[in-house]
Amino acid sequence: MISLHQVSKTFVSSTNHFQAVNAVSLQVQEGEIHGIIGTSGAGKSTLLRLINLLEKPDSGSVIVGNQDLTQMSEKELREARRNIGMIFQGFNLVSNRTVSGNVSIPLELAGIPRRERVERVDEFLEFVGLEHKSKQYPSQLSGGEKQRVAIARALANRPKVLLCDEPTSSLDPNTTNGILGVLKRLNQNFGLTIVIVTHEMEVVRNMCHNVSVMELGSLVETSVVDQPHD
Ligand code: ADP
Repeated sequence: MISLHQVSKTFVSSTNHFQAVNAVSLQVQEGEIHGIIGTSGAGKSTLLRLINLLEKPDSGSVIVGNQDLTQMSEKELREARRNIGMIFQGFNLVSNRTVSGNVSIPLELAGIPRRERVERVDEFLEFVGLEHKSKQYPSQLSGGEKQRVAIARALANRPKVLLCDEPTSSLDPNTTNGILGVLKRLNQNFGLTIVIVTHEMEVVRNMCHNVSVMELGSLVETSVVDQPHD
């Protein structure tokens, strides 16, 4: 489902060159939950953002589905990204839009007609258990609820892949378990392929099938997680 081949990324400023990701190759199968762990600054977030080309690689190829994203025009890339949802540690909700309004954003960008938008927003809010909060604003929600809205928004275009950047790092353990439960149900019910960056071993043990370890920009090891994840 995801295939990275020798992908590198260097950040360049007027004073500095910093190689954040160094010739990383990675395979993630369809329906897999793949963890990426490593110390802070190891390049995990950058690697995740390379999968949907939010960061453009300096070299190497990024294949998602059967499409080589590195060979695409901006227009083709915008289309391809609809198959790749993403959620973040900080939720990234739009504060002056309601819960429904936030989930609707990617559908509006994709030009989905209003009636279908309303149906899909309701469907995904129900999936994450927030249909009763649809008219509220982000400031009225708890952290766990905000992340559920972000998950519903990421799912709105029915992506095949969900990228998760430290999705539970700002949540307490109980809320974390709830969010991990939602992600596992997505994987089990719809076969969604999930890549999750985390520094919490608990997250890996709880839900990942395989895990890759990053160190100083390199991927040093990929292994099977043998704990039961359910
Ligand atoms: P991790 O997610 O493992 O903490 P990151 O991928 O966020 O690591 O960052 C890896 C390194 O790249 C860090 O040293 C960070 O400062 C640097 N970095 C990340 N993004 C940028 C950027 N946009 N410009 C310059 N340096 C960056």
